[in-house]
Amino acid sequence: MSDSNAYPRLGINHDDFRNAAHALVDQIIDYNTTAAERQAFPDVKPGFMRPLLPDQAPEEAENWPEVFSDIEKVIMKGMTHWKSSGFLAFFPTASSYPALLGDMLISAVTCVGFTWAASPSCTEFETVMMDWLAKALNLPEFFIHNGTGPGGGVIQGTASEATLMTLLSARSKKIRSQLSKDPQKSHHDINKRFVAYASNVSHSSVERAGKIALVDMRLLEADDEGSLRGKTLLDAIKEDKRNGRIPLYVCATIGTTACCTYDNLMEIGTICEKEGIWLHIDAAYAGSALLCPELRYIAKGLEFASSFNFNPHKWMMVNFDCSALWFKDSTYAINAMNVDPLYLRHEEKSSAIDYMHWQIPLGRRFRAIKLWFVLRMIGLEGLRSHVRRGIAEAKHFESLVEKDKRFEIMFPVTLGLVCIRLKIEKWDNEKLNEVNRKLYDAIHADRRFFLTPSSVKEKFFIRIATGSSNCTTAKLDECWAVILEMAAKLLNENISTDN
Ligand SMILES: *Cc1c(COP(=O)(O)O)cnc(C)c1O
Repeated sequence: MSDSNAYPRLGINHDDFRNAAHALVDQIIDYNTTAAERQAFPDVKPGFMRPLLPDQAPEEAENWPEVFSDIEKVIMKGMTHWKSSGFLAFFPTASSYPALLGDMLISAVTCVGFTWAASPSCTEFETVMMDWLAKALNLPEFFIHNGTGPGGGVIQGTASEATLMTLLSARSKKIRSQLSKDPQKSHHDINKRFVAYASNVSHSSVERAGKIALVDMRLLEADDEGSLRGKTLLDAIKEDKRNGRIPLYVCATIGTTACCTYDNLMEIGTICEKEGIWLHIDAAYAGSALLCPELRYIAKGLEFASSFNFNPHKWMMVNFDCSALWFKDSTYAINAMNVDPLYLRHEEKSSAIDYMHWQIPLGRRFRAIKLWFVLRMIGLEGLRSHVRRGIAEAKHFESLVEKDKRFEIMFPVTLGLVCIRLKIEKWDNEKLNEVNRKLYDAIHADRRFFLTPSSVKEKFFIRIATGSSNCTTAKLDECWAVILEMAAKLLNENISTDN
C-alpha cells in the first residue's frame, strides 16, 4: 500500500487534511470576526434540524468541500451564539485562541491518560498545571501537590462531576470512620443515615449529586442576601443529629448561579471543622476572580475547605471543558473510586498518581495542555484584566439601572452579574412576578438580546451576565435601551388593562 490514498488510516490523506484544516482555520477566524454581530438566540423551533439532514449516514465517503459547505447551512442555522455581543445569558463560556490551539493538539496526540502509565506526561503535567493554578488563585497550601500530597488538584470535565466526586469522597471517608466504630454495621445502613447540606440558591447540580449518590441533600434557606449562614446550618445539623442522622457534607457556594451571592464560609467552615463534616466549595463561576488580589475577600474562610472547585471554562479563557478541582486529602477520593483490575496495573503504582481514581470516568483527555497554552500565552496579568473588564461592564450596567427608579437591583453587583426587576410600588409580589415574566418574554421574543431569568425567594428577576468575549459597554447601553423599550410597551398595556 504505497498509495497514501488507498487506505485512509487517518480518514483522509495528509495533503487533504492540510488543505481542509487551512480552510477550516480561515472559517474559524471568519466566525470569530462575525460572531459578535450574530443573533444570540436562533429563530428555530424544536424539530428544525431533522429535515435539513439525510435519513442516514453516507455509504461512500464524501469530500471536504461538500461537508464544509454544510457548516453554515445546517449547523449555524440553530446555533445559540455564545460569542454574540447580544449574549448576556447564563454565565459566559470561555473562548480564546490559545485554548483552541490546545484543543487541537490535545485531539492530535489522542492520549487517554487514565493512569500514570497510560501517559506519564499527561498525569505529571496536569499536577504541575494544577499547582500553577492553585498558586495563581492563592489557594491554601494544602491544595498543592508538590509531589508529596496528600493534597492536590485534578481537571474534571464539569463542576457537576466535581461536586459528585467530592460527595462520594466524603461518603467513603465517613463510612470508614463509622465502620471503625461499629464493624457490624452495613454500608447501606450507614448510608441511609447520611445527610448533606447546601443552600437553596446553590446550583441544581448539587441537588443532583445527592440524587445520584443517594444521599439526602437538604437545601437550607439562604438569608435575604442570598447567603447560607452558620446558624441555619447549625440548626439543621442539630435537628438531624437528634433524629439519629449523620451529617456528612456541606457544599457552600461562592458566586451562586442564580444571583452571584456568597455563602458565609467563615461561619460554615467553623461548624464543619467542629462537626467533622466535609466542606466542598463550589466556585464554578467566581473562582476565576481569585486571580485578582482585590477580589479575594469573596473567599474568606477558604482555609476550612476539604475541596474546592472552579471552572476555567467559564471565566478564565480556557474553552469548555476544563473544571479545576482540588482535594485537601486525595486519599479519600482514591479510596472511594479504587477498584484495581489487573489490566490497569503498572509498576509505578505506589509512587505515581493514577488520575482515574480522582474522577468518575476512566478515560480522560490531556486538558492540561490548553490550560498551559492559556496561562503562558495570556499570562496571569492578561487573565486578571479579562476578569476586571467583565466586572467593569457589570458596574456600568448597574449604573444605568440605578438611574431609573422603576427598576430594582436585586443583589449587590460584585462580579459580572446584574440582577434586575421592574418594581412598581403599588403592586404586590405576585403581580410583580407576572409583569417581570412578561418583560422577560418580550425581551426574548425581540431577539436582539439573550438574557436568562431567575427566581430567588419567590421573586422573579432578569439576569444580565457580562464578561463574554464580545461584551462591550456600548452593547450594554443598547441592551438597557431594549429593556426600557419593552418595559414602556408593557407598562402602557398594564395601565390600560388596569383601568
Ligand atoms: C455553572 C455552574 C455549575 C455547573 O457547571 P458545570 O461545569 O456545567 O457542571 C455549578 N455551580 C455553579 C455555581 C455554577 O455557576
